[in-house]
Amino acid sequence: MRGLKKFLEEVVMSGKVNPFTIAQQQLDVAAEKLGLDPATHELLRWPMQEIKVVLPVKMDDGTTRIFHAFRVQYNTARGPAKGGVRWHPDETLDTVRALAAWMTWKTSVVDIPLGGGKGGIVCNPKELSETEKERLARAYVRAIGRALGVTKDVPAPDVYTTPQIMAWMMDEYETMVGEKHPGVITGKPLPLGGSQGRIDATARGGVYVTREAAKVFGINLQGGTMAVQGFGNAGQHAALLGEEILGLKLVAASDSKGAVYNPSGIKARSLVDYKLKHDTLKGFPEAEEIPQEALLELDVTVLFPCALENAITKENAPRVRCRILCELANGPTTPEADEILYDKGVVVLPDFLANAGGVTVSYFEQVQNAYNFYWELRDVHQRLDDKMTNAFRGVYEMSRREKVNMRQAAYLVAVARVAEACKLRGWV
Ligand code: NAD
Repeated sequence: MRGLKKFLEEVVMSGKVNPFTIAQQQLDVAAEKLGLDPATHELLRWPMQEIKVVLPVKMDDGTTRIFHAFRVQYNTARGPAKGGVRWHPDETLDTVRALAAWMTWKTSVVDIPLGGGKGGIVCNPKELSETEKERLARAYVRAIGRALGVTKDVPAPDVYTTPQIMAWMMDEYETMVGEKHPGVITGKPLPLGGSQGRIDATARGGVYVTREAAKVFGINLQGGTMAVQGFGNAGQHAALLGEEILGLKLVAASDSKGAVYNPSGIKARSLVDYKLKHDTLKGFPEAEEIPQEALLELDVTVLFPCALENAITKENAPRVRCRILCELANGPTTPEADEILYDKGVVVLPDFLANAGGVTVSYFEQVQNAYNFYWELRDVHQRLDDKMTNAFRGVYEMSRREKVNMRQAAYLVAVARVAEACKLRGWV
């Protein structure tokens, strides 16, 4: 997979990073290793369906604004497309294509019967009122609704979209088709058919795969330590569940404003409460402040990056001292850093495996909607545990068999499954 590293260096140097080109390159590397035939390889390099729409929306002041929007259904060989809708000023078709490709590999690696999709509206939601957001959400569904459906394509929340926006979208869809179809969208509010356990699903899935990794790599978690970069939704739940399920002691956490550290341990619940009250970690009385970058280099059992892309690079990777790096964020480790960590013996749990708990519980939401019967929280937890544990084992076995790192193994597992489904359907 050195070709990918060289390629990424070139695109970064040229200043033209096109995420879809990167996604295609990642697929190329896996296709070569799997020996995919040329037709299957070419099929998997492209979205199978793309929709581009223009949405005229009335603003509160009576003017009309025109919004550009996309929906990409990347591959549906394993089931209906699944993926979030992002509202972002810098959204592009290529970003949505790349994210739809990554959703295809994510649903495949956890072996849920769904394909990959993604949507986007080019807008700045911070400049929109609630009523403008509602009209925009409904306009999007009116424009692309014929391509959506529980058997076709199921959107979900993503960057700057919320359960309330999902509720408006579901309502617009149901109005269009004249029937109740709550499973057309996931991430809904609980009273409209959302699932128990969605709020901490991403972190919980990551904690389960960390537990499994510790078993096979012979790492003792009980009484060990953890550091959390990015104390938001994923990060706070990683700290709480790392303590509760893995027996880890939280020693450091950071957010965009700063980082705090106490080698004797910080009660995760106290830090979450402090963050909720003060909207910062700074000033937390039972810890000292440290520079944010220093958190990544602490000698801890598990490091959870839960903030942004490219947190661990070739510059700081040589100083990273954790035993397990559980990537709850998307893309926190650069390809160069990946190789350095592998050589150092750090167990890296790659993002599209480690953070797949969210989409897995979205799938559970759809299943409950289909049955019109809702599960207890304990059932959601048990089923998530089974899915994540099986996914980890599949990737680990592949990494042993092919003698590749866990990220490369996750790609091989995911791409092979999608390729097999395309073949069984007679597409290639
Ligand atoms: P969030 O906005 O709730 O939290 C992000 C946190 O990162 C915030 O506390 C922010 O202050 C902090 N942060 C930003 N810059 C930082 C920096 N330089 N150093 C330290 N902290 C910094 O977002 P989230 O939902 O928790 O998502 C976090 C990551 O996890 C993202 O990469 C997201 O794509 C990924 N993810 C989340 C989910 C989910 O279900 N929430 C699912 C899959 C992937």
